[in-house]
Amino acid sequence: MSEKRSQFPLPLSSVTGGSTRKPAAPAPVATPQTATQNARQNSQVQPRGGAAASVPGTTRPAQPQQTVVRSDLAATEAPRRAMAARAARQGVKDPQVLAALEIVPRHMFVEPGMLAQAYVDISLPIGHNQTISQPYIVARMIELLKGSNQPLRRVLEIGTGCGYQAAVLSCVAQEVYSIERIKPLHELAKANLRPLRIANLRLQYGDGMLGLPQVAPFDGIILAAAGLEVPRALLEQMAIGAHLVAPVGAQVQHLQRITRKGKAEWTSETLEACHFVPLRPGIA
Ligand code: SAH
Repeated sequence: MSEKRSQFPLPLSSVTGGSTRKPAAPAPVATPQTATQNARQNSQVQPRGGAAASVPGTTRPAQPQQTVVRSDLAATEAPRRAMAARAARQGVKDPQVLAALEIVPRHMFVEPGMLAQAYVDISLPIGHNQTISQPYIVARMIELLKGSNQPLRRVLEIGTGCGYQAAVLSCVAQEVYSIERIKPLHELAKANLRPLRIANLRLQYGDGMLGLPQVAPFDGIILAAAGLEVPRALLEQMAIGAHLVAPVGAQVQHLQRITRKGKAEWTSETLEACHFVPLRPGIA
């Protein structure tokens, strides 16, 4: 595990000491408001700021005063390993993606009442009618995003939600940008990610259907919400050779992988069936 960790830019090994934000054992109550409450509580923690340069219009999860005790991570190591092993049995092959699943503490992204299910291969509610994605699909989509593009330099995620997939992405890409349209979820993701001190991740509140033109082109774009088609602006923000992975459809959805072949040429593959929350325009 320690050799695996060293190949990532994500210094999760630095998550040490301090008080526990979430208990290791399941807490009794979860309501749709819990995510918002968590965000509010955590926003009261004074940020210490960060050393990495910021990009105009984006915010970086600030560093914590409160952090998670190592025992939380140690106690969840076995279920995390089991989760990665299950994804491998389901067909995920990329060792870097599987190692990222082993590293990122998913229990820090679920509501306190859902801790017992944090390492079960299911999506879970995060408030505002949104969900944290199923671990398998996170791994599968990131594997598709990478394809043979090594290394993955600059990646854009549409739909930060609670921030879990963004954290996984930050293990496999050099720079990650993630956009969320629901303000309390953008705040929740910031609060969830703060203790992890991920230097190569930037969060943005806004409409991801517009992409992030000030940072484009991207070597990979991943959508965590399903539209009837992939927004044109995102296609335009792909680097030549880049992949975009998105769920596409309404009731029936499939993963689509689009590859930019040239200035005005894209190819598309339709892959497995999936189920995601809808991609919506504008901000909320
Ligand atoms: N990435 C998350 C999954 C979040 S669910 C994870 O790690 O599990 C999908 C998210 O996409 C929701 O939070 C929803 O609000 C967001 N979303 C939908 N349309 C969007 C848009 N146009 N721009 C940005 N985010 C959007």
